[in-house]
Amino acid sequence: MQRTLFDPDHEAFRETMRFFVDRTLRPNAERHAAEHRIDRDCWREAGRAGLLGLEVSETYGGTGAQDYRFNAVFNEELARFGAAYASCFGIHADVVAPYLVDLGTAEQRTQWLPRMCTGEVVTAIAMTEPSGGSDLANLRTRATADGADWVIDGAKTFITNGGSADLVVVAARTGPGPGARGVSLFLVDTTRPGFHRGRILDKVGQPESDTAELFFDGLRVPADALLGEVGQGFISLMQRLPQERIGVAIGNIANTDQILTETLDYVKGRQAFGQPIGSFQHNKFLLAELFTKVQVTQSFVDTCVDAHTRHALTAEEAAMAKWWSAEIQSDVLDHCVQLHGGYGYMNEYRVARAWKDARVNKIWAGSNEIMKELIGRKLGL
Ligand SMILES: Cc1cc2nc3c(=O)[nH]c(=O)nc-3n(C[C@H](O)[C@H](O)[C@H](O)COP(=O)(O)OP(=O)(O)OC[C@H]3O[C@@H](n4cnc5c(N)ncnc54)[C@H](O)[C@@H]3O)c2cc1C
Repeated sequence: MQRTLFDPDHEAFRETMRFFVDRTLRPNAERHAAEHRIDRDCWREAGRAGLLGLEVSETYGGTGAQDYRFNAVFNEELARFGAAYASCFGIHADVVAPYLVDLGTAEQRTQWLPRMCTGEVVTAIAMTEPSGGSDLANLRTRATADGADWVIDGAKTFITNGGSADLVVVAARTGPGPGARGVSLFLVDTTRPGFHRGRILDKVGQPESDTAELFFDGLRVPADALLGEVGQGFISLMQRLPQERIGVAIGNIANTDQILTETLDYVKGRQAFGQPIGSFQHNKFLLAELFTKVQVTQSFVDTCVDAHTRHALTAEEAAMAKWWSAEIQSDVLDHCVQLHGGYGYMNEYRVARAWKDARVNKIWAGSNEIMKELIGRKLGL
């Protein structure tokens, strides 16, 4: 179906994204997977191409696009190539940058945003802890006021870009009791003493990303490392998670569409019993169903992107888009593996890697169960 979401300017930006993927990421992807990190040259190249500052005004080195549809194109083109790239670049440009833009002081923005836009500084956001990620309000990492400083102690895990980040937005408890009210956000410069990285985690999929554990051991940060107001961190997270979730949904459906289209090519070429395997009625009907599911999901995600562009997307709608697109992706990619037969189980085939890469989409950025919990609450249940 003809999508009506984008203007010629967005399509021109899509060409820029494709050029970046083909010239900078594709030739290096096998190395990224082997080394479990996207090298800094690729980040800098993304910066030079003006891809990392879509949410950032020109004053701070960004492009100041102020139109979420550009973020959508950014996400789609990275996810079409590989889920890990959408995740790593997305966390940096589409998730962390808006925290600084919305909550940062002029000094904090000046200190970090220009270098984030050039790719000189890579960022992460650390909410999840070894003791739990779904129950975010009960996080245990603590920041204690000490004179004009804060001293942070605790641990985070599963942090995307954690292995290489120069700046981490850390959610920590500053209030006395448990619960959402005592959570604050900090801008943690990773060169400070007391900041330690754990191992790069050995994931099932997305080997290109350096997902890591982080430890804070008497990590002293100055008062101006506080991002936003004391005790408002949980609210700030809740206000911004819908953008992270619609970003995941955009990537999910773009990636699914890409792998399904590649699978269609495969079933037209692969022969069994003297005919293309796609032409068996079972497979033909299956592919008709899969393409229908992708189209229907794309329409809903596009409607959500349009709403978000108008600042009208609700948290529940973002949750719907996130869980539904992850389920459809899981279903469709599993069939794509099946249609490839044994080759579908070989790591050298994109479909096999995409299938493994996709599994996390039902878990991260709020699990599918937590998404349904949010939607259920809105239903008054
Ligand atoms: C590759 C990867 C990258 C990640 N990147 C980041 C990152 O950059 N920053 C970050 O902060 N986090 C990150 N995460 C963490 C991710 O957001 C969490 O894993 C996720 O929120 C789930 O938390 P958990 O793993 O502690 O599972 P748990 O909270 O222990 O949940 C376990 C299971 O219980 C279910 N469950 C929990 N509560 C309920 C409930 N009320 N009702 C029904 N079921 C429930 C969950 O849905 C899940 O199925 C990443 C995770 C992965 C795997």
